[in-house]
Amino acid sequence: LNRRLAEFGTTIFAEMSALAVRTGSINLGQGFPDTDGPDEVREAAVRALRDGRGNQYPPGPGVPELRTAVARHQREWYGLAYDPDTEVLVTAGATEAIAAALLALVEPGDEVIALEPYYDSYAACIAMAGGTRVPVTLHPRDGAYVLDLDELRDAVTDRTRLILLNSPHNPTGTVLTREELAAVAALAVERDLLVVTDEVYEHLVFEGEHTPIVTFPGMRERTVTIGSAGKTFSFTGWKVGWVTAAAPLVAAVRSAKQFLTYVASGPFQYAVAEALALPRTYFDGLRDDLRAKRDLLGSGLAAAGFEVYRPAGTYFVTTDIRPLGESDGFAFCRALPERCGVVAIPNAVFYDHRDEGAPFVRFAFCKRTDVLEEAVSRLKGLA
Ligand code: PMP
Ligand code: GLN
Repeated sequence: LNRRLAEFGTTIFAEMSALAVRTGSINLGQGFPDTDGPDEVREAAVRALRDGRGNQYPPGPGVPELRTAVARHQREWYGLAYDPDTEVLVTAGATEAIAAALLALVEPGDEVIALEPYYDSYAACIAMAGGTRVPVTLHPRDGAYVLDLDELRDAVTDRTRLILLNSPHNPTGTVLTREELAAVAALAVERDLLVVTDEVYEHLVFEGEHTPIVTFPGMRERTVTIGSAGKTFSFTGWKVGWVTAAAPLVAAVRSAKQFLTYVASGPFQYAVAEALALPRTYFDGLRDDLRAKRDLLGSGLAAAGFEVYRPAGTYFVTTDIRPLGESDGFAFCRALPERCGVVAIPNAVFYDHRDEGAPFVRFAFCKRTDVLEEAVSRLKGLA
């Protein structure tokens, strides 16, 4: 293994899902729903397979039906106009979109600012691109995680190439406010930075509405926005994601993407095109269901003695284990299956400043109600 990747080891999600299987535990670690997405979307995939649509290499940028559906989605939800031919790119999940964007846009030695704790592939992809990651830490304050805008400003140097943003934010569940987004946008404009923004949880916002950072002044030409069908339609195995950006940025990302997978998920692209056209009631239903699950797991965790950081978005809840007399999230998560048959993720893996993340543990609530209830009753035995 080369020096760029040596520090990363095995992704925590694989490690913890394997632990869940080995111990027969309830897996609230890796974020994937235990119920598949809508039947009609599955049927659309079956139809595409049967009709021979997408069984051979689809076009490099993605099938036109999906690019058109993504452009329509951006227009109808956010009032954003994207040309499906030049400003939309279909990728193998958001994961490939992140990798391709960084490989395409970062020069060796460039600095990339990422909000810490950050989703684990960010650090690895920045490293593969030869960049230097500069974490800006979200601080837990009064039950929420907050971005210190002065710290963000101070992190920008002459070497900074881009800000890698994520809102709604995994693992904290933070949704950046309009004021925060406006400040990040103003900084990007002032310092002439690109923004790559991972908005895969755009439809999982429980209070208020999702605001894409590209909607702020001066951002249309410098923002690469990333979306994914995995989260919005509960088909994480399909690996259909997308990028929307100005044509020169999409062309750059495509240059890298064509040599990573070239293309992926042919028949599923057609199905996701249909999914994006589902009525608003579908999106509202998903959000309302997950809001109820957030409250169920959140109150259960609080009753079990955890300090709970109530998420405004995503399907993750971050907790502080110190009220339980614990301080090491890694040790806690490794012991949890033995102690009570539940698997969770230690947030420390999402930090450069590991000490800052040490006592925090993330639980996923994209699970059936009965599963969450069982998990809560098991966790209550901890105290
Ligand atoms: N970004 C974030 C913040 C995520 O939480 C995830 C996934 N789980 C991804 C990207 C990857 O998405 P995909 O499965 O579409 O590759
Ligand atoms: N994004 C999911 C999570 O945060 C996991 C994705 C993965 O396993 N790579 O749990």
